[in-house]
Amino acid sequence: MIRINKMTKLFTTDEVETTALNAIDFNVKAGEFVLVKGPSGCGKSTLMNIIGLMDTHSSGDFSLFGEIINDLTELERTRLRRGKIGFIFQKFNLIDSLTVFENVELPLLYLKEHPKKRQEMIDQVLERLDIKHRAKHYPAQLSGGQQQRVAVARCVVANPDLILADEPTGNLDSKNGKEVMDILTELNKEGKTIIMVSHDDQFVNYAQRVIHLFDGNIIP
Ligand code: ADP
Ligand code: MG
Repeated sequence: MIRINKMTKLFTTDEVETTALNAIDFNVKAGEFVLVKGPSGCGKSTLMNIIGLMDTHSSGDFSLFGEIINDLTELERTRLRRGKIGFIFQKFNLIDSLTVFENVELPLLYLKEHPKKRQEMIDQVLERLDIKHRAKHYPAQLSGGQQQRVAVARCVVANPDLILADEPTGNLDSKNGKEVMDILTELNKEGKTIIMVSHDDQFVNYAQRVIHLFDGNIIP
């Protein structure tokens, strides 16, 4: 599903150049659950953003879903991402001015799903994540654990093949963290490919494979 060869990412600002990823090789097969570990600033989010087609790499080769990404335009990357990649973030990243229902509806609006079909898909996923009774609430009216369940619902509503979770348990207590991990495990068993970033040792055993990143390098 993912082939990365000698991928480098440089961030250049007026004063400094940062090598966030340093010629890394990284492959992921469909159906895997991979955990990316490493200290703050080692390049984890950079890697996730590139794999999720939210950012571009500086050099090296990257292919995703069998397509070579290197020279795709932003529009082509957006098209490839839609409905195929779901994100979960540490800070939930819900839109405060939208209800739970409307937040979860967003990916389906991008995909131009029919309203009736949207309603069905949203009901189903809200039920699954045990948050349907809060459909008309706004994010600020929910606990952290509930907000993350909404974010997971938004991530999976369009049935993506690849789930990218960047420290999804970082802002949760251990009970809610475990709940999110259990949902991810379930989704993986249903065939979703999952890449998760964490620096929490608690969750290492959930993944089939752990990749260690340090200073932009993958440590064997
Ligand atoms: P992690 O997620 O592992 O904490 P990041 O991928 O966010 O690390 O960052 C890796 C390195 O790249 C850090 O040194 C960070 O300061 C730098 N970096 C990340 N994003 C940017 C950016 N948009 N502009 C400049 N430097 C960045
Ligand atoms: Mg990060």
